[in-house]
Amino acid sequence: MALRTGSVLLKTQNFYKFTSVVGVRWFAEKASKSVAPSDPETTGDHLIYTQEHFALRESLRKIIDQEINPYVDQWEAEGKFPAHKIFKILGTAGFLGVNKPVEYGGLGLDYTYNVAVAEELGNIRCGGIPMAIGVQSDMATPALARFGSHELKEEFLLPSIMGDKVACLGVSEVGAGSDVSSIKTKAVRKGDEYVINGGKMWTTTGTQADWMCLLANTSDGPPHRNKSLICLPMNLPGVHIARKIDKLGMRSSDTAEVFFDDVRVPCKNVIGQEGMGFTYQMIQFQEERLWAAASVLTTMDNIIQETVQYTRQRKIFKLPVLYHQAVHFRLAELQTEVELLRSLIYRATALYIKGNDVTKLASMAKLKAGRLARELSDSCLQYWGGMGFTSDVLVSRVYRDFRLLSIGGGADEVMLSIICKYMDTLPKN
Ligand SMILES: Cc1cc2nc3c(=O)[nH]c(=O)nc-3n(C[C@H](O)[C@H](O)[C@H](O)COP(=O)(O)OP(=O)(O)OC[C@H]3O[C@@H](n4cnc5c(N)ncnc54)[C@H](O)[C@@H]3O)c2cc1C
Repeated sequence: MALRTGSVLLKTQNFYKFTSVVGVRWFAEKASKSVAPSDPETTGDHLIYTQEHFALRESLRKIIDQEINPYVDQWEAEGKFPAHKIFKILGTAGFLGVNKPVEYGGLGLDYTYNVAVAEELGNIRCGGIPMAIGVQSDMATPALARFGSHELKEEFLLPSIMGDKVACLGVSEVGAGSDVSSIKTKAVRKGDEYVINGGKMWTTTGTQADWMCLLANTSDGPPHRNKSLICLPMNLPGVHIARKIDKLGMRSSDTAEVFFDDVRVPCKNVIGQEGMGFTYQMIQFQEERLWAAASVLTTMDNIIQETVQYTRQRKIFKLPVLYHQAVHFRLAELQTEVELLRSLIYRATALYIKGNDVTKLASMAKLKAGRLARELSDSCLQYWGGMGFTSDVLVSRVYRDFRLLSIGGGADEVMLSIICKYMDTLPKN
């Protein structure tokens, strides 16, 4: 199929932003060739993707193959990837603001494109870098894009989308992770400034970030009405990076503990209305959870494929490991589960772009993604035998990295509680 004439995407200048990475000619050729007639998934029959989605993914894949994957092992060993360098490359090509307003450097597309990007990021050969990219594009910035003032968007959103500023999200604290309402960090109004005291824990990209989307208590009111989201520059006096946390996985993503000691920030840095931070954060979580679930799909496909390849050539008892029914049946079962999860994510996304509240489906997708990622990486690692226990193969890294998905961004039990609320089965105190 040739490029669709009249496509909204093709009409926007932003189309050229991502095609410029590889050239419009390449895009046109690819768009006309990439359709495998026998595969309805890549034809016009796809549930949420068009040819433009596939072209966007191809373009991102080039960056992943050229600028990221060759260095992943080095960054994993160093415990940090160069966020400013990588975000500049991704931002210039338009990948950090796919659904963000064109006015602030975004591509102005709908959320299906974020899901396409999240799926493609799964081709990065670790979990840490996709996670950090997701924090920048889908976790620290949605509330700012939706509710922030023009001035704040110019100062923080635009440079984050362009890859000139690195963002982080400051919600979790030492004493408050699952129970977001119990955070202790305070922002007390003094004249036209807030004075901030407290601290944040587990801050992804926290040692490199230029600003934080900070959730803090701005009054003593009820816990769901006393919080605000504040854009906090990380170079202000009183912001201390206490330490870079050593972790089981996600090693190329730096994780910081941050303290605030009488940090003064203008009150105009509050996103939207003061006191609405908890609500904004809960809305922001919808995108965070859909994104997190979508970001592991491709990696799970890749792990299954690599396991098929390895077990096909590895012989035990005169037969390839793969030919043992327990192995190929198990891999088929896991691939089926991945496809079920993919369908749930696509359905939630399709409903979301029509303006529906998809909190329940997004929570189900996040829950299922966390559990399946653990199950799949564990099962596949087993079939690699001793090789699976080495650092030389992707499956062992994924086994460590994906353990986080059942904990971070709302643990499995938090997802279950949300689903129970929607099922009206959660006891009300
Ligand atoms: C690598 C990494 C990166 C992170 N990045 C960020 C970030 O950028 N920004 C940010 O704000 N946070 C971040 N987090 C924090 C993450 O979101 C929290 O770790 C998560 O919300 C869980 O909070 P907690 O660690 O305090 O666990 P706790 O709240 O202490 O929970 C412990 C356990 O209790 C169980 N539990 C929770 N609720 C229930 C329930 N209702 N019923 C039964 N059991 C329950 C769960 O098994 C849970 O794992 C990150 C964490 C990690 C490890």
